[in-house]
Amino acid sequence: MSNTTTLNFTLSEELNAIKELTQNFADNEIRPVALQFDESQEFPYEIFAKLGELGLLGILIPTEYDGSGLGYQEYAIIVEEIARACPAIALGVAAHNGLCTNHIFRFGSDEIKQKYIPILATGKTMGAWGLTEPSAGSDAGGTRTTAVLEGDYYILNGSKNFITHGNVGNIALIMAVTDKSKGKHGISAFAIDKSMNGFYGSKKENKLGMRCSDTASLTFDNVRVPKNHLIGNAGEGFLQALQILDGGRISIAALSVGTAQAALDASLKYTNERMQFGKRLHEFQGIQFKLAKMAMDIEAARLLTYKAAWMKDRGENITLIAAQAKLFASEIAVRACEEAVQIHGGYGYIKEYPVEKLYRDVKLLTIGEGTSEVQKMVIARNLLNK
Ligand SMILES: Cc1cc2nc3c(=O)[nH]c(=O)nc-3n(C[C@H](O)[C@H](O)[C@H](O)COP(=O)(O)OP(=O)(O)OC[C@H]3O[C@@H](n4cnc5c(N)ncnc54)[C@H](O)[C@@H]3O)c2cc1C
Repeated sequence: MSNTTTLNFTLSEELNAIKELTQNFADNEIRPVALQFDESQEFPYEIFAKLGELGLLGILIPTEYDGSGLGYQEYAIIVEEIARACPAIALGVAAHNGLCTNHIFRFGSDEIKQKYIPILATGKTMGAWGLTEPSAGSDAGGTRTTAVLEGDYYILNGSKNFITHGNVGNIALIMAVTDKSKGKHGISAFAIDKSMNGFYGSKKENKLGMRCSDTASLTFDNVRVPKNHLIGNAGEGFLQALQILDGGRISIAALSVGTAQAALDASLKYTNERMQFGKRLHEFQGIQFKLAKMAMDIEAARLLTYKAAWMKDRGENITLIAAQAKLFASEIAVRACEEAVQIHGGYGYIKEYPVEKLYRDVKLLTIGEGTSEVQKMVIARNLLNK
């Protein structure tokens, strides 16, 4: 056999070590309190502080900026393992690492990176990433928030909605229009923080699932942003955001795989315990078929997700594969959680069993970071070279 193997589906020692570390933390510190935080809808500050200490809030950031210096393969495995214990906390990890921190790190000047990245990477504050607006969701090119240059400052006005960490995050990366005549190419990115007057979070959403994740609106009321807080050049914000979303979709795919796996784990346990007609549930072929389909879908989603992460770490274009992974993994996760509730019968509908929360949490995954329909548009555009 040749030494230059081109396919390798085995996790390296390092990846296995990271998986084990995250799994231990998730099992011991997250799973036992996941339902409690879901019910109270409080942001789990202590858990995020510990995630920061473990280096899991600066995953993609080099060590010179106090990050962990890891890649997307590690990132995917970390998000997957946290999602197995609580998808809502995994959502926070994904938004903080993959969107806000990553955007500032990838496109920001040295000065801005020095100012914000070490604080974000160590979890001293959470980061928010603001693209969505009340009238600009899937059609982000319709952004209305404006940034007008006056002397050494951009003056920001407008609002964002549905922003993860909108209230609990002190630092945000937001997109605003600097030149309306240029359409999408007149949208720019800014790194801002809540010491700037007129920038505040508001209207915490009361959600179906992901309830301990802080989802809120952001308001910009004549915020004076020093012009060196522009990220990259004026007009580059939209294209930067698309690249950030490509990577972000890997983490939503991983989150989906972890959530679906949690649904399968719970179903395997329950069908081994529950007796009906004098047999354990897993002895019925009708139930076995459901378990088999869930396991097959999860494995396929995991392979797509890991492939997308692997390609990202190799510096390849991932627009197509990341959209495929996000679409497939989120759709199978929704189905897996629904089957898990069905398998649990009436017990699946009550909060004593974990599948009730999974069923509510999972639906966000076909919506956030581009809906399933948007992923299909991205995939088709790539196939048709449009
Ligand atoms: C819990 C949560 C957290 C979030 N976190 C963030 C965040 O941190 N930062 C951020 O910027 N945003 C965030 N979002 C916003 C999220 O990305 C948007 O909700 C999503 O992109 C969809 O936009 P919309 O809700 O405006 O729906 P719309 O764009 O209004 O879409 C409504 C429906 O129409 C469909 N649709 C729209 N256009 C087309 C088309 N051309 N063809 C076919 N179908 C179409 C959509 O697929 C969807 O089914 C979050 C949302 C939630 C719920």
